Amino acid sequence: MEQYFVKQAITTNNLTIEDQEIFRHAIKVLRHKNGDVIYLVDPTEKLFKATITNVAVEEKQFQVDLELLDWASTELPIDVTVACSLSKKDKIEWITQKSTELGAKTIIFFSSKYSIMNWKKNVVEKKVARLQEIAKNAAQQSKRRVIPEVIYLNSLKDLVDYKTEANLVAYEESAKQGEISLLAQTLNKNPKSTLCAFGPEGGFAPDEIDYLNQNDFLSVGLGPRIMRAETAPMYFLSVLSYKYELTVK
Ligand code: SAM
Repeated sequence: MEQYFVKQAITTNNLTIEDQEIFRHAIKVLRHKNGDVIYLVDPTEKLFKATITNVAVEEKQFQVDLELLDWASTELPIDVTVACSLSKKDKIEWITQKSTELGAKTIIFFSSKYSIMNWKKNVVEKKVARLQEIAKNAAQQSKRRVIPEVIYLNSLKDLVDYKTEANLVAYEESAKQGEISLLAQTLNKNPKSTLCAFGPEGGFAPDEIDYLNQNDFLSVGLGPRIMRAETAPMYFLSVLSYKYELTVK
């Protein structure tokens, strides 16, 4: 049941797959043969059942017959951006993979006062490309229709350029003061998009919170327990899935 993203919109009933990444994985690694089925998603979020009809190993390509599927979308019904303070490589890779599995549409990493890391200008492109690849693989694995966009911001201040309908900052001090209702109140207004910013292990500096509040980011608590920096965005995404995707029948 492998799913792959193709780069061009599919408008025909059959296709020659020349994408070397897909060829390598489907034919070389998984050894698919004629008659086997894979799934393709195009940039318009359409899902196709693709039956392999002709594997041309020499030419490093294969052909498929396509059937458009009307299966329900796997995307969250709200556009979600998680914006996380920069941390070590393994943590940001983990955040990228898990946020993708949980449905984030945009994943931002930003440098803040107590971030333990900072990226030099000349490494940003390579690091973002690596995270984007992790997001693509996680989106394929979790059968999403969209690959989340990964963005790096050199400054927390630039976050205001990415504002959505409902902008939040998960603030540990709000949680410690017993703030338990602002996230629920915000979601009850059923915004079409939301962004939540998460601080580093050392938390947000008070002036960073002031700046975000002045720019219409609401400080919210995420329950009485203080989570690690990488756990808090997963809590937020899980809350959204519970609210928008699960129901009592
Ligand atoms: N060093 C801080 C402290 O001791 O209070 C804790 C920072 S926490 C490990 C990292 C980030 O996760 C916070 O800046 C916040 O964005 C988020 N976070 C964790 N638990 C939270 C909670 N219960 N409510 C709101 N935000 C939380």
